[in-house]
Amino acid sequence: MEKIAVIGAGLMGHGIAQVFAVMGHDVAIHDPFPEVLARVPERVSANLQSLGFDPSSVERITLHRALKAAVENADIVFEAAPENLELKQGIFADISKVTKPGCILASNTSVIPIGEIAAKAEDAGRRILGTHWWNPPYLIPLVEVIQAPQTDPVYIEKCIHLLKRVGKLAVHVKRDVPGFVGNRLQHALWREAISIVAAGICDAETVDLVVKNSFGIRLPILGPLENADLVGLDLTLAIHNVILRHLEASPEPSPLLAHYIGEQRLGMKSCKGFYEWTPESAQGVRDRLTQYLRKALQKGEPLDG
Ligand code: NAD
Repeated sequence: MEKIAVIGAGLMGHGIAQVFAVMGHDVAIHDPFPEVLARVPERVSANLQSLGFDPSSVERITLHRALKAAVENADIVFEAAPENLELKQGIFADISKVTKPGCILASNTSVIPIGEIAAKAEDAGRRILGTHWWNPPYLIPLVEVIQAPQTDPVYIEKCIHLLKRVGKLAVHVKRDVPGFVGNRLQHALWREAISIVAAGICDAETVDLVVKNSFGIRLPILGPLENADLVGLDLTLAIHNVILRHLEASPEPSPLLAHYIGEQRLGMKSCKGFYEWTPESAQGVRDRLTQYLRKALQKGEPLDG
């Protein structure tokens, strides 16, 4: 049983810790903020209870204020600290010095290239790779395992093997591009969705209704490339010949986003974004999402995988 360390005990970190604790691994978790660290047992226990799992797994998770104590005996470290390049570079420089020689060092960055995160870690670079989990880590099956130019493929193989053993669908991303695979696809869709609203083609609710009631329903069964094969690549080419030049291709975020943020329209947390929210309506969406995911993915099994 590999010993696991997790850095950052927030939304993703406590969930990643839970995945390994449930499968019998000892997990050491570190966060510099004591109040965040102290909440890990209650957050994990609540998740386990709501899933109907044995809550005693939480006892395998130990809490650490000191980074070194959390990682020094680990076989693999998952970093889930805030999405900030300098902060992550500092963490990897530090942990490369105090971990065991064969310890795998994995970042859960959403979009930052792993090679940049590894830049200050000197000779430990070959042990550094990306593991991009999705929220909540204990329900969503996928983890993208990202190979950076300096990563030794042996560690990629070991990491994928370990993730499969704890029930995850681990895929190998062979090039270290910003956003990897999932977030490139997701944000290509979000860019177009925001652009459609900004251009006055329809309102935000209509965009979401279109997605949820058309190709969104098919996605768990039919990925985009299976769908291209299903309709035929000749039709796909004919459609692309007409549509691609009209899609949003700006390399900058939409001015509409900056405008909304200037007006303190930050989304659910400020009760206004593309939609108006109350704390109750926002919680309603979160609850419906959790219920849906639990029903669809109770055993954490990949769809069609
Ligand atoms: P979060 O803010 O919930 O958690 C981050 C934690 O890191 C906090 O508990 C914070 O106290 C702690 N922290 C702050 N400074 C630290 C330091 N110097 N060392 C160690 N820990 C520190 O954020 P999150 O949503 O869990 O995101 C963590 C990482 O995972 C980010 O890189 C994010 O982009 C990525 N990610 C997030 C999601 C998501 O859906 N939220 C999904 C995939 C990947």
